[in-house]
Amino acid sequence: MARERLYLFDTTLRDGAQTNGVDFTLADKLAIARSLDDLGIDYVEGGYPGANPADTELFGKDRGLKAKFTAFGMTRRPGRSTSNDPGLAALLEAKADAICFVAKSWDYHVRVALETTEDENIASIRDSVRAAKQKGREVLLDCEHFFDGYKANPTYALACAKAAFDEGARWVVLCDTNGGTLPHEVEKIVGEVVKAIPGDHVGIHAHNDTEQAVANSFAAVRAGARQIQGTLNGLGERCGNANLVSIIPTLKLKPEFAGRFDIGVSDAQLKKLALASHALDERLNRAANRYAAYVGDNAFATKAGIHASAIAKEPATYEHIVPESVGNRRKVLVSEQAGRANVLAELERIGLKVNKDDPRIGRLLEIVKERETIGYAYEAADASFDLLARRTLGTVPDYFVVTQFDINVEHRNNAKGERVTVTMAVVKVKVGEDNLISAAEGNGPVNALDLALRKDLGKYQRYIDGLSLTDYRVRILNGGTEAVTRVLIESEDENGERWTTIGVSPNIIEASFQALMDSIVYKLVKSGAPA
Ligand SMILES: [Zn+2]
Repeated sequence: MARERLYLFDTTLRDGAQTNGVDFTLADKLAIARSLDDLGIDYVEGGYPGANPADTELFGKDRGLKAKFTAFGMTRRPGRSTSNDPGLAALLEAKADAICFVAKSWDYHVRVALETTEDENIASIRDSVRAAKQKGREVLLDCEHFFDGYKANPTYALACAKAAFDEGARWVVLCDTNGGTLPHEVEKIVGEVVKAIPGDHVGIHAHNDTEQAVANSFAAVRAGARQIQGTLNGLGERCGNANLVSIIPTLKLKPEFAGRFDIGVSDAQLKKLALASHALDERLNRAANRYAAYVGDNAFATKAGIHASAIAKEPATYEHIVPESVGNRRKVLVSEQAGRANVLAELERIGLKVNKDDPRIGRLLEIVKERETIGYAYEAADASFDLLARRTLGTVPDYFVVTQFDINVEHRNNAKGERVTVTMAVVKVKVGEDNLISAAEGNGPVNALDLALRKDLGKYQRYIDGLSLTDYRVRILNGGTEAVTRVLIESEDENGERWTTIGVSPNIIEASFQALMDSIVYKLVKSGAPA
């Protein structure tokens, strides 16, 4: 059976940019556009030229993407001609391969929000599509509130979509703008639409207000739509847009879709998915969602001993796809319930060759259990477990020793008479025969300590230059008579690899110090720094 082409349209830079707390710079937009292009996305919607200076500049020159770079904007305003509408002119001048117009398709909105007649709205759609076609652009029409509009007045909603199609729009995109439509409704309505407009000209734009944007996108495809619009990590207004990071692997790896459709994403590009997802969070300066489908840290993590031994024998027993196919990896958690099987599986994964009957494995298991009773949680700190295992097996060099550190926190008046808190850390490190002293100021004691520790490691400095701290989490545990602090630190290196380390102590600085040290040493081990 011939496979059909299904197109992916990304709107991270337009709809995703409308997310609360998200503010992309031009450099951000260019980097994200390139990462989408590398993934093999068909259309990259860059923004709204004319609406703000950054987007106008973005579309000021050809950005050389393989994807169709798409400008977004409104159809001509009611009562104006296409030649007398500055907004439309900016859109037509944009250096874009395609133009995506947004237009009302709900009669109620036409009357109340647009304050015009139903006929004038349709004329505006026709005129705008024609003007963009004449400019040689591929044209898309986003039918805003299509599903709510269709429920209220199917004839009018369909007439708006049909007007664009008849005028030569390549795609008519049905938008669930309020995000409240359910999958069975989407399937039914799209099924009606494709009787009037061929499905290979129909797209779906779903929002996640009932946590079903991905399901709604697939419902539309089942009913005949052949373009899916979405964003990386489901970024978008309110609860977000349909998450392409979940949609892409489902299309590539689930037989129902993989057997019927081709998409622009190759198997090799699919392996970059986890990295693209994490890179966006990094850019937004937020921790990646560890529970994210396919790409989350927990997506292929197993805890219980009985599952771990089955996974070691046959991964497919507990995994719905091969984790590496999306750039993720299997993780067997070492925890209180840990059995030998977990530990052996984890040792194998980190590449430590040990005989199954080596008595040091029993010793490692004992240490893990002892430490977990005092508050360590190795399941959440893969890199600290890695180091603990290597240390128990005697393979971690003593790269350096921190002989002393001091942290001074001062609360005082500054020159302007304002109350300020100033923190400074001084660290003494012995690297080989060298004694090094570093000092750093930070916005808090842990930050100052981190900066001072990483400032000068002598001959090892070049291995940790690309190291950065991406997340810091503190939890107070009530372990018996006195509270204990658990610190988890997530780090990242220049290759985008991430790891988590842990420290536990009644003193938050000491707990943080342990986790910071583990992170640095882990990076040195991983980089193959010589002893
Ligand atoms: Zn939207």
